[in-house]
Amino acid sequence: MSQLSRRRFLFSAGVSAVGAVALKGCVGNPPSSTQTGSSPPAAPAVNVGGGQGVETATARIGYIPIFEATPLIIAQVKGFFAKYGMTDVQVLKQSSWGSARDNLVIGAAGGGIDGSQFQMPMPYFIASGKITDNKPLPMYVLLQTSTHGNGIAISDKHLGKGLNLDASKAKGYISELKAKGTPFTAAYTFPAANQELWIRYWLAAAGIDPDNDVKLITVPPAQTVANMKTGTMDGFSTGDPWPYRILAEKIGFMSALTAQIWPNHPEEYFAMRADWVDKNPKSTKALLKGIMEAQQWCDDPKNRPETAKILAGREFFNLAEDILNPPLQGKYAMGDGQPTIDDAKMSPLFWKDGKGSVSYPYKSHDTWFLTENIRWAMLPEDTDVKALVDKTNREDLWREAAKEAGIADADIPKETSRGVEKFFDGTTFDPSDPTAYLKSLKIKKVKV
Ligand code: CA
Repeated sequence: MSQLSRRRFLFSAGVSAVGAVALKGCVGNPPSSTQTGSSPPAAPAVNVGGGQGVETATARIGYIPIFEATPLIIAQVKGFFAKYGMTDVQVLKQSSWGSARDNLVIGAAGGGIDGSQFQMPMPYFIASGKITDNKPLPMYVLLQTSTHGNGIAISDKHLGKGLNLDASKAKGYISELKAKGTPFTAAYTFPAANQELWIRYWLAAAGIDPDNDVKLITVPPAQTVANMKTGTMDGFSTGDPWPYRILAEKIGFMSALTAQIWPNHPEEYFAMRADWVDKNPKSTKALLKGIMEAQQWCDDPKNRPETAKILAGREFFNLAEDILNPPLQGKYAMGDGQPTIDDAKMSPLFWKDGKGSVSYPYKSHDTWFLTENIRWAMLPEDTDVKALVDKTNREDLWREAAKEAGIADADIPKETSRGVEKFFDGTTFDPSDPTAYLKSLKIKKVKV
C-alpha cells in the first residue's frame, strides 16, 4: 500500500470510529411487534447461536443518512432484526461512501462493519479491488433497499433555460457556458455509481455529452449544499431528502426525479462481506427477514409519518420531520415552472413498486449498472458481466429468506431478470442483450 493510500485509509477509519453512531439492539427484550393484546410477553430474544438457530446474533451494518437507509434503520428501531434472532445488531452511520467502504474492508473485528447500504455497483468495485487499492474483497449483493427518491438539483441561476426532464432545449445554453470558460459543473458524492450514472444518463439523453460538454466532479457530502449556494456547482445528483431541501431552502430547483428518468428503477442495495455471509448463512437470512419486514412496514402509508419521525431523530438524519414528510408522500415542488408532483407512487418505495418487488435483487439490474459502467469506460468493454453478477449477486439467499419468513408466493419473483426496461427518452435495455443497448446509445465512450 502506498504512503498516500495508507494515510487515507487510516484517516477514514479514524473518522468513522469517532463519527459512528451506534444503536444497540435491546438484548433480552422482546421486540414490541411480537407483543399482542393480553397475551403474555414473548420469551426473551434468543441467545447467541440459540433459539432461532442463527450462527451469531451480532452484526454491524453501515448506512448513509438518506432515504435508501430507511429499511435498515426501521428494522433496528422496530425490533425486526431481534424478532428473527439478530438481537445484537448495530446500525452505524457512515460519514461518507468512502468511509462505508473503508469500514467494510476493516471488518467488524477491527472496529469496522460487516455489511452496508451501497450505491451500485460499489459492492462489485470492492469485490474486484477497483476501489480498495487493488485488494479484492469478495462481496455479496443481498437485497435492494429502495427505489425512487433521487433526483438532479440545479442552481437557481439556471432558471428558465430548459434544464428539465427533457433537457435537449438547454443544449445550446450548455455549449455557451462551455465556450465562455464556465462549463456547467455537476457533482455527486461517489464516482461511477448511481448518482453519477443518473446525471450522465439524463445529460446524454438530451444530446449533451457528459465527458465533453460539462464538468463532472465528486464532492464530499458535507460540502454539497454550500457549493450550490456559492455557485461553484451548478447541478447535483442526490438522494432524498436533499432534493426537497434544495427547494425548501431556495437554493435551486429539480430538473428531474429518478422516478421520472426510469420509473421503478433499481436504486441502492444491502451488501455484505462474502466471508461473513459464508460463515453465517442463517444469520444473513435473519437479517434479510428483518429488513424485508421493515420494507413492508415502511410501505404502509399509515406508517409513513412514524417513519419520518424515526428518521428525523438526532442519532439518524438529525433533520426536521417536516422536511422528511413531503417526499415520503411523493410531494415534490419541482420549481422552474414545472408542475408540482403529488403522487405516492413517485415517493421512495421499499417493498413493492409499479413493476413488482423492490426488495428482490434482480440480476438484470446489476447487469444494467455494470453495462452503464462499460458505456462510460469506467469498466473495460471486455468485462465478463455475467460471471461477475453470478458470483456476487445472491438472490438465492433472498428467496430462501423470503420463503422462510412466510412471504406470499406472489411477492417472490420467479425470474432472475425483470425483463426489458424502459427509460423516459424511449431507450430500452434488454438484459439478455446488453450490447444491443450499448449500440443503440448515441452518446457513449465505449466503441461498440
Ligand atoms: Ca441514491
